[in-house]
Amino acid sequence: MGKTFAVIGDPINHSLSPNIHSAAFRELNLDCSYIAYRIPKGELEEGIESLKKIKIDGFNVTIPHKIEMMKYLDKIDESCSLIGAVNTVVNNDGILKGYNTDMEGFLEPIKKKKINIANSNVLLLGAGGAARAIVAGFAKEKAKSITIANRTIEKANDLVEFAQKISLNANSITIEQVKDTAKNYNIIVNATSIGLQNESSLISLDGINDKTVVYDIVYMPLNTDFLKKAKEKNAIVIFGYEMLLGQAIRAFEIWHSMEAPYNAMKKALLGGF
Ligand code: NDP
Repeated sequence: MGKTFAVIGDPINHSLSPNIHSAAFRELNLDCSYIAYRIPKGELEEGIESLKKIKIDGFNVTIPHKIEMMKYLDKIDESCSLIGAVNTVVNNDGILKGYNTDMEGFLEPIKKKKINIANSNVLLLGAGGAARAIVAGFAKEKAKSITIANRTIEKANDLVEFAQKISLNANSITIEQVKDTAKNYNIIVNATSIGLQNESSLISLDGINDKTVVYDIVYMPLNTDFLKKAKEKNAIVIFGYEMLLGQAIRAFEIWHSMEAPYNAMKKALLGGF
């Protein structure tokens, strides 16, 4: 019998997840379908009940439900409990198990490019939900240190506390304090939403070189001002779509217990822009 999957969130009509997963089903000849399902804030419980009624096999979770969804899980994978948010759910006869594939999705392109995280000094811009998964990733891969720069310093401080709890050497600064220090870091990540509206990069990248890794997790537009500035310095650039693809690949492998067709999924994702 065919299987059905979904992505839930609000807004959801611009989601590229249906394109990516449907391409994988076509490539592997799987009798599966994947839909985008809008569930407004405050209606998550009813939304989940309706998904259980149609015997959904699994679903992705996006803004604004990633944290609240934790309440409705029967089983929690450690990726999920570590980050405190869920983006992938498996439905096994009404028993919902939650996973978080953002951390592995973030790490995937770094590993693919054989970039050494251990012993790296990292600058992370942002302290929201995505930043938390990123901190967990750098802790897992044993980065030497992480400096978290955020507009709201209290949120950066909370994230520093989380990093230290999972044995990652961390400190916080404001965005203004970054000034011309970008050159002091091996890996620089933008995990703020700056770039989505084509805004200019929050920081100067003066002094970085062709060994510096610059990663923007904003994926719409593909080429943010932050990445354009990094390219001018010949830095090693990682695009936000690569994280999006990485988390989708991991979700696919959790649901289907088989290797995901990377190239077909990448082609579908890039075709969606
Ligand atoms: P959150 O809303 O949780 O966090 C937003 C972050 O952006 C905060 O650090 C916030 O700072 C900062 N920010 C927002 N506006 C400004 C501003 N005007 N000036 C300075 N800082 C600002 O969002 P998420 O963490 O969930 O997502 C962040 C971005 O990452 C989004 O653009 C999202 O699309 C992208 N993303 C990409 C993924 C991928 O797979 N590539 C996966 C998940 C997210 P403050 O704390 O001060 O408000």
